[in-house]
Amino acid sequence: MGGLADLARALGGRARRNEPLAAYTSMRVGGPADLLVVCRTAEEVVRMVGMARAHQVPFLVLGSGTNVLVADAGVRGLVVINRAGRVRFGEDGTVWAEAGASMAALARDAARRGWAGLEWAAGLPGTVGGAVVGNAGAFGGDVASVLRTATVLEPDGTVEERPAEWFEFRYRGSRLKGAEGGRVVLAATFGLRPGDPEAMAARVAEVLRERRARQPSGATMGSTFKNPPGDYAGRLIEAAGLKGYRIGGAMVSEQHANFILNVGDATAAEVWALIQHVRAEVERRFGVRLELEVERVGEWGEEAGKKGSKGAEERWGSCGSV
Ligand SMILES: Cc1cc2nc3c(=O)[nH]c(=O)nc-3n(C[C@H](O)[C@H](O)[C@H](O)COP(=O)(O)OP(=O)(O)OC[C@H]3O[C@@H](n4cnc5c(N)ncnc54)[C@H](O)[C@@H]3O)c2cc1C
Repeated sequence: MGGLADLARALGGRARRNEPLAAYTSMRVGGPADLLVVCRTAEEVVRMVGMARAHQVPFLVLGSGTNVLVADAGVRGLVVINRAGRVRFGEDGTVWAEAGASMAALARDAARRGWAGLEWAAGLPGTVGGAVVGNAGAFGGDVASVLRTATVLEPDGTVEERPAEWFEFRYRGSRLKGAEGGRVVLAATFGLRPGDPEAMAARVAEVLRERRARQPSGATMGSTFKNPPGDYAGRLIEAAGLKGYRIGGAMVSEQHANFILNVGDATAAEVWALIQHVRAEVERRFGVRLELEVERVGEWGEEAGKKGSKGAEERWGSCGSV
């Protein structure tokens, strides 16, 4: 890719080349990014994405990589790891955070300062940006219920402040999830309310306890599938007798059947094969087609369709030509 070579030259020592992505994901699988940069401020994210676009190189922004399955062949183009983590609490209960800030840390800090509304996010892996894109939620709360506005880098390079309604939030989704066009969340502002610090500390502790009790530790992407209406994906997978089922290094958790674990050098192909097996078995036994909560990204080859194509559940790096 001519554009890629030029971009690599323009980025110089700023970018890592053929950087394995496994280390940037919670599942610990995934092949190399052609180029990878780690950004510490929103301005840097804007600059890097701008450079990718100027060179017509596809790019993919990742936060903590806790909700993605990266292909063994890796990701073509530029991967931007968003570590922009500035946070500012206002006097009026608004909190502004760059998209690379940790949701869990934000929830903890808010509770400590006496601002209520984010306790559900205690212990939630991932960044503010990833949480906005996927409308992350847990323990009765979600991003949609607390987000006021978010700053979005548009495909034409402009930066817009978007109200929460603009995101069209739905269960574990928004208009940005799996979307083409390469919009990037740069920051988010949440609206919180005054709360009793002791009660909030207790709630945060309870949420953390529940997480530890319910969820397995280890390399995972969290819930693999969305819960189907009126049921739980984990219940269906368990009822299909799949707890502990293993393909290569990928295994359905014994503790929570909707979690897949990398129990030893799993490949993305093995994880995907296990996901397909689980889905097929649940459909065969119960007639329910489970929808993915996690997202496949990168170069999946033949089976995933031609490069640049995008199904509802997979995504190539947003195209720089937009
Ligand atoms: C142990 C475990 C428990 C979990 N529990 C929960 C839970 O209780 N509830 C829940 O909702 N989720 C849960 N998850 C999933 C995950 O924590 C959330 O989806 C999280 O919000 C993802 O954030 P991230 O920064 O890791 O996103 P990533 O995985 O890095 O990215 C996810 C998607 O968002 C895009 N993206 C990321 N940042 C940006 C940005 N700034 N602009 C544009 N696009 C961006 C990426 O391109 C990708 O498509 C869990 C995961 C794990 C591993």
